[in-house]
Amino acid sequence: MIVIGRDKVSEVLVKGVEPAAVCDSGETVVFETRDCYDDGVVSEERPLGDKECPLENPATGPLYVRGALAGDVLKVEILDIEPRSWGVMRCSPVAGVFREDFDRRIAKIFELKNGETVFDERVTLKLDTMIGVIGTAPAGEGVTTDTPDSHGGNMDCRKIVKGSVLYLPVNVEGALLSMGDLHGLMGDGEVMICGLETGGRVTVRVSVVKDCCLPAPFLYCRGDVMTIQSAKTLDEAGDMAAKAMKNFVREAAGKDDFEAGMLMSLLSNMVVCQVVDPLKTVRVEFPLKVLEAYGYRLP
Ligand code: CA
Ligand code: CA
Repeated sequence: MIVIGRDKVSEVLVKGVEPAAVCDSGETVVFETRDCYDDGVVSEERPLGDKECPLENPATGPLYVRGALAGDVLKVEILDIEPRSWGVMRCSPVAGVFREDFDRRIAKIFELKNGETVFDERVTLKLDTMIGVIGTAPAGEGVTTDTPDSHGGNMDCRKIVKGSVLYLPVNVEGALLSMGDLHGLMGDGEVMICGLETGGRVTVRVSVVKDCCLPAPFLYCRGDVMTIQSAKTLDEAGDMAAKAMKNFVREAAGKDDFEAGMLMSLLSNMVVCQVVDPLKTVRVEFPLKVLEAYGYRLP
């Protein structure tokens, strides 16, 4: 099996770079990832400041998938996510909803064990490890790994978990898939600025889908399909995600705009993924079984 190690990282998703590995469509690949602090925050005594971590949000990759051409969709089945044995959280005086509460960075280290972490003597939390950064290379300029956009990237969507299937746009030959920024746990919004930041091993199966009209980035998770959109404001991102899903429902179910709109108003949930990155991210969820009642099958 192909394994891409933690030494193959970048801060920018960009075309024209040497791939870390090459695979065929349908192959299984392991990505070993660093945490968003470049594995630099290892003690609560040294939370580190700006520019003290060598890389910010490093993503492992890129993986070149043979046969992937611009206009295709890359299907990424998340077969497994194994976080390492510890995670870290850090507040910031310059970013996040609560930045004015802090005059310095403070870090807290957590042990991750048996799928749980102890928050304090009263509260133990069940992990639900997710991938914060996952994307393909954009068609134009490179995009730094702190930013989400139409190529994926730093979407911080807590539904990108083991068992999920993510559909990403192929913008350049080979797709050039990268990922990193695992969170052992994160709430929708990621309001303080971070999740339970960790590294680990992600096992995925990647397949090229031709002639596919999914509005990528598009996600399947636990019975729902989801559009994921990022924009300067939550209002814009919400409109974009809802419109993308409505158009998809209309085509998938063979409905007109009014019928698709009614189904959306009745059944879809618009959820904030994160409000702390350079663009803000919203997802719109819709139950797949309703589309399957009309004969639709996910590719
Ligand atoms: Ca992130
Ligand atoms: Ca993060």
